[in-house]
Amino acid sequence: MKEIYLDNAATTAVRPEVAEAMLPYFTSVYGNPSSLHGIGQKGKEALERARADVASSLNVEPREIYFTSGGTESNNLAIKGYAAAAMAKGRHLVTSPLEHHAALYVFQQLEKQGFEVTYLPVDRSGLVDPADFERAIRDDTILVSVMLANNEIGTVEPVREIAALARERGIAVHTDAVQAVGKIPVDLQDLGVDMLSLTAHKFYGPKGVGVLYKRDQLEIRPLFEGGSQERVLRPGTENIPGAVGLAKALKLAVGELETEGPRLAGLRDRLEKGILAGLDHVTVNGHPGKRVPNLSSINFSFLEGEALLMALDVKGIAVSTASACSAGTDDPSHVLRAIGLDPVTARSTLRFSLGRNNTAGEIDYAVETVVHTVKLLRSYSPVSAAGQGAGA
Ligand SMILES: *Cc1c(COP(=O)(O)O)cnc(C)c1O
Repeated sequence: MKEIYLDNAATTAVRPEVAEAMLPYFTSVYGNPSSLHGIGQKGKEALERARADVASSLNVEPREIYFTSGGTESNNLAIKGYAAAAMAKGRHLVTSPLEHHAALYVFQQLEKQGFEVTYLPVDRSGLVDPADFERAIRDDTILVSVMLANNEIGTVEPVREIAALARERGIAVHTDAVQAVGKIPVDLQDLGVDMLSLTAHKFYGPKGVGVLYKRDQLEIRPLFEGGSQERVLRPGTENIPGAVGLAKALKLAVGELETEGPRLAGLRDRLEKGILAGLDHVTVNGHPGKRVPNLSSINFSFLEGEALLMALDVKGIAVSTASACSAGTDDPSHVLRAIGLDPVTARSTLRFSLGRNNTAGEIDYAVETVVHTVKLLRSYSPVSAAGQGAGA
């Protein structure tokens, strides 16, 4: 059976070159970087090479790169770590309602601990307005965190503009760039944020390893107590194969951006055009221009997204409803609700996220299968038949 993977925003397959680069660090170069002997120092050298490579991919200094266990930990470390370090200055935080749960739930937790959080408004395309951020700023505002690219609808937020406003006033800026790094150019000198989260498994690296970039002068508290690894901010013996894999995957992804970005955008447009041409009552979510090239969020009115997902799975096409993380829960996506979709429409949405292994032939098969399957499912549906005559 065909296996067409259109769920690259959930995770990606590790590139063969990345797996190969990691292999020696499981078996032959196994030392603990904290050991003083030569075997340990070989591990240390590999770790520091990986750190330097990541720093150069992001245009920052190696000492500003901290390896973590992934996007969730990086977000927690940035947001909780800064809130704890700066709470004497103020207890007001600003974020968006579109954040991944790995940031949103951190803010909800901080609210229970006495912090006040402003959730910025977003428009129908999922954009935050920097002017709304400016209006939200108070004397006691210490941190703003807005994601660079949304994982459900792909909208790219004006983080650079927000960062410029924040830094004028001494407010720290964090961005969850998990869905942006390796998809769009991310130059930290240009972006101007103080902290940025990324994770390897979203750009063809291994699962369970991520990075927090933290500007040199900014002080944050660690989440864990323990050894002095990662300059005390992330105690615990380092995941050297993971760091090596992350660095390699990042270098490859950034190096290929210029060709792979337009290629993916072309495939995504081919997918959207085909589906919109073949079906009535379908709409695309997100901003038409300000979005990552690999992701398309589509509402199929009169259908349950999950039913369509399962029917496509049978035909060898892997997609997702809103996001992998909220799959299996009954609540419609908080992102789709925040951009103004009613719960029924939010539940009729599928996310297609393309990757480097997808071909035009796969997209054509996907279009054909989606169009056929939606027509079939709608023909069973009493709502579409009676109400709208929308079987087509
Ligand atoms: C996947 C994802 C995360 C979580 O990263 P993990 O490495 O799986 O912990 C955080 N934020 C966004 C936007 C994501 O897409």
